[in-house]
Amino acid sequence: MTSIFSKIITGELPAYKVAETEEFLAFLDINPNAKGHILCIPKEEVNKIFELDKDTYGGLMEFSRKVAIGLEKSVSCKRVGMAVVGLEVPHVHVHLIPLNSMGDMDFSRKKNMTDEEFEALTKKIKANIQI
Ligand code: AMP
Repeated sequence: MTSIFSKIITGELPAYKVAETEEFLAFLDINPNAKGHILCIPKEEVNKIFELDKDTYGGLMEFSRKVAIGLEKSVSCKRVGMAVVGLEVPHVHVHLIPLNSMGDMDFSRKKNMTDEEFEALTKKIKANIQI
């Protein structure tokens, strides 16, 4: 079955996209732990991260690094945390989360954001990412 994230890649579903290459896509998590929470995904639909081939795995890490550097310039945080965790969407995704406290890594604590906030943040992060 086509994953939600594959539908975002094709444009069937909307997303706040912040960076894209031929192989990878980064967009804001719609239900963020912290403002600026980003998901980095391979366009190839693979369920689990350690099922990725070596090149795609390495490419996803390098893509995520570049996105994280742009993210840290865009939001106020002590550092950007990274996690590959979750059971909901069967399509590899790297969570990048701006951290001000360890509570920001608590996936049961979510921040509400308006469409306007998502849009403004997307614009800001996009401008700071160099791929
Ligand atoms: P998990 O597989 O548990 O990591 O959960 C999937 C993650 O994707 C969660 O953090 C969701 O908030 C996020 N998510 C689900 N659907 C969307 C969407 N349409 N756009 C952006 N993020 C999403």
